[in-house]
Amino acid sequence: MRTDLFIGNEWAPAASGRRFDVQNPATEELLASVAEGDAADIDRAVAAARACFESAEWRGLSARKRGALLFKAADLLASRLPEMAELETRQNGKPLFESKIDVSSTVETLRYYAGWCDKFGGETVPVDGNFLTYIRHEPIGVIGAIVPWNFPLNIAGWKFAPALAAGCTVVLKPASETPLTALLMGEIFAEAGLPAGAFNVVPGHGSTAGSALVRHPDVDKISFTGSTSVGQRIMQDAAGTVKRLTLELGGKSPNIIFDDADIAAAVRGAQTGIFYGKGEVCAAGSRLLVDRKVKDQVVEQLAARCRKLLPGDPFDKTTRLGAVVSKKQQESVLEYIGTASNEGATLVAGGKAATVNGKGFFVEATIFDDVAPTMTIAREEIFGPVLAVLAFDDEEEAVALANQSMYGLAAGVWSRDIGRAHRVAHAIRAGTVWVNTYNMYDPAAPFGGYKQSGFGRDLGRTALEGYTETKSVWIAL
Ligand code: NAP
Ligand code: MG
Repeated sequence: MRTDLFIGNEWAPAASGRRFDVQNPATEELLASVAEGDAADIDRAVAAARACFESAEWRGLSARKRGALLFKAADLLASRLPEMAELETRQNGKPLFESKIDVSSTVETLRYYAGWCDKFGGETVPVDGNFLTYIRHEPIGVIGAIVPWNFPLNIAGWKFAPALAAGCTVVLKPASETPLTALLMGEIFAEAGLPAGAFNVVPGHGSTAGSALVRHPDVDKISFTGSTSVGQRIMQDAAGTVKRLTLELGGKSPNIIFDDADIAAAVRGAQTGIFYGKGEVCAAGSRLLVDRKVKDQVVEQLAARCRKLLPGDPFDKTTRLGAVVSKKQQESVLEYIGTASNEGATLVAGGKAATVNGKGFFVEATIFDDVAPTMTIAREEIFGPVLAVLAFDDEEEAVALANQSMYGLAAGVWSRDIGRAHRVAHAIRAGTVWVNTYNMYDPAAPFGGYKQSGFGRDLGRTALEGYTETKSVWIAL
């Protein structure tokens, strides 16, 4: 297992010599001791990324050659899928089948952007006068990617794949809980033949390494996924150097079940919407809004399914609920559960901490009914396996409740009425709306937030454009 910093295609300890521990949250075992980068190491990594960018060894490659190297990295990652997925599960606590999906999605993301390289052209524009005026997309430069622990490799891939495809170079700062798969990705990129400095990984804490990356004058853009509070801090720290920003922040996404929905399908969608990834999913359908006419029926069916959804060993094929990422996160989730009870919500399933084989930071699949929109669990992101159920009486109230949030990341709509489905999808202020499905992602579909869920988009052509500057060139004819 790689545990040093990855800078300029070489492995090195932190300048300070410090290391930090990474723990398996399902077994409480010490997994690794990882080099703890800080401002001095960020300086080295940014210098390597800058030198690679300026030398044009990466951005100056023909677009097809750059794409070919990214395709090669995708193939190498695919060939190491079992190893990568196992590592992800060990550091994050998610079931192995989920980690396998994460790694294959990262392969797909790399291939998607590899394919764009030789197809991402500029355009000519019809200006007044006797000119040829054309628009070029030029790589922004050095990208600082800062990512969370819930989809450590996958979300990093949402940043590094389009950034590298655009010709940028990258310094990735993984979350403290989950640096291992990012480091392994460094090895894969080097093996694929990326030039030194194109991709660098500096594990370390947000307040030191992360903050140094955000304030660094030689970093052109920060692409961040994480909490809204850290996002606010990053906006402030980035202001000093007028950095470009993409911020993918928190969510409290509404999943709306109308009385004309296929109830069985909606219940399954509500279940995976909140319990996939132990609820540590930015787009988790954590607010279930249900038409009062079918609410009791929905809650009853959901609670019955929930009681069978037991925390289990992430390496057991049948496990569908893994360990929460850390003891700290487990404590935070349990505190929200306590607050929900105190504020008068009705606990209908789960509600307690759990262990598997006597160890680990697990939380039971938990459902609260009779939640009022003013309650803490209806407003704040819990980032754990806890669902809040709210009732509504008509479509107008459903939309109003859905939009009654500082967040606007995603939403679900369950209805057989096609007109209603489109109407509600358009009325919801969120970057993604799923109709009669939930938690679908594809490299081709942009993903990101409205309101305090952030701005800018990962994925799709939109993300690729986000790693470029637009230049207008005027030629007098
Ligand atoms: P977090 O505390 O905001 O941390 C995210 C990353 O930022 C980590 O790498 C963290 O480092 C780093 N960081 C912390 N303080 C920093 C600072 N001052 N300057 C620069 N970097 C700093 O989030 P988390 O607890 O890891 O993840 C959970 C949050 O992520 C949730 O709010 C969730 O909604 C959000 N999320 C959003 C999306 C999306 O696409 N919208 C996807 C997944 C998760 P350390 O690990 O050392 O603290
Ligand atoms: Mg954190």
